[in-house]
Amino acid sequence: MTHSPALPAPGAPAPAPQADPLVPRMRPFGTTIFAEMSDLAVRTSAVNLGQGFPDTDGPAEMLDAAQAALRGGRNQYPPGPGIPELRAAVAAHQKRFWGLEYDPDGEILITAGATEAIAAAILALCEAGDEVVCFEPYYDSYAASIALSGATRRPVTLRPTASGRYEFDPDELRAAFGPRTRVVLLNSPHNPTGKVFTADELSQIAQLCQEYDAYAVTDEVYEHLVFTDSASRHVPLATLPGMRERTVRISSAGKTFSCTGWKIGWASGPRPLVSAVTRVKQFLTYVNGAPLQPAVAVALGLPDAYFTGFRDDLQAKRDQLSAGLAAAGFDVLRPEGTYFVTADITPLGGKDGVEFCLGLPERCGVVAVPTQVFYDHVDAGRHLVRFAFCKRPEVLADAVARLGKLR
Ligand code: PMP
Ligand code: GLN
Repeated sequence: MTHSPALPAPGAPAPAPQADPLVPRMRPFGTTIFAEMSDLAVRTSAVNLGQGFPDTDGPAEMLDAAQAALRGGRNQYPPGPGIPELRAAVAAHQKRFWGLEYDPDGEILITAGATEAIAAAILALCEAGDEVVCFEPYYDSYAASIALSGATRRPVTLRPTASGRYEFDPDELRAAFGPRTRVVLLNSPHNPTGKVFTADELSQIAQLCQEYDAYAVTDEVYEHLVFTDSASRHVPLATLPGMRERTVRISSAGKTFSCTGWKIGWASGPRPLVSAVTRVKQFLTYVNGAPLQPAVAVALGLPDAYFTGFRDDLQAKRDQLSAGLAAAGFDVLRPEGTYFVTADITPLGGKDGVEFCLGLPERCGVVAVPTQVFYDHVDAGRHLVRFAFCKRPEVLADAVARLGKLR
């Protein structure tokens, strides 16, 4: 059916609804893989190592502060950019851990999770005809946000090397840039691969960004999850020479404080960039999470021991699940950070991750995520699947025992 500008004649039958009313540029996007796989886990009573959410609550100080705020009259619209105490805490946290200085008044914006910050940044900076350089596999909301803006994604493939580390070809990175490049969208530590971009890799990206006068949007939600045996440490792209003024740096409370359902995130950057993102964000959600904002401010100020303890806990979980996956016959690609480990299914006779993951609950009662859905070049990820290890040790032990049935 085509759109007709004419109104139907009085009494005429209502026009038939379009087969799919969704605008064509969003039609490739169905239900997210995370929702689909969590649904599969519920339906099959499988252990859900698909969607990345912890199965324990975050720090008690944060939960107490949220409770006090809920009962303390902090339930109306907070200020548009976020409450001052949270913006101050976000600024202090970035100074403390990364030496980055942002003015809480004008250089920091509180958002509905990192997801909204990413969408608002892309919508603010890109329009039809623009190009966004990103790395594949990419977090699923990137493709959707780029599509919403009308821009085109230019993915650079991360491929596992013999060492088990995912790497990109510098020539492919350079080839992805061009006159229409508007934004580089970088996620490090990287979901789903667990890759932490090295200083050398970051400087290649920074150089091209400057050469092509592009902005950088960085997704650093796993900033505190770089494991102690990683060859890299977390380096925000904004700390590289010439990058602060062109970077929107995004993070959120969800992962660091085990509260993925709270959806409190933030964007930091120079005033003009944050102003651009704010002007879009204010018409997406306006504001969010009033009583949760003061609680996240408390969490960001926790002592270093919280952050190192959190990392050490996840590292032990990574080791527990990785050993189990290896024992079950997977070729495990050891992650340097994040909540996730990817594994090659080829040694188990698997050829296609989607098929493999759809059959896994029946075969052994575990849910994982096929990473091919995060690639444009699907073949590069067809044999790879992702498992989340942000679960209690007994849950991981159960999953490992179940996976043992695959052999
Ligand atoms: N980016 C990445 C790489 C993620 O893994 C996630 C999931 N936490 C998000 C963004 C979304 O973060 P939030 O829940 O804060 O919107
Ligand atoms: N970030 C989580 C993951 O990668 C999922 C978030 C979501 O469901 N959108 O598993």
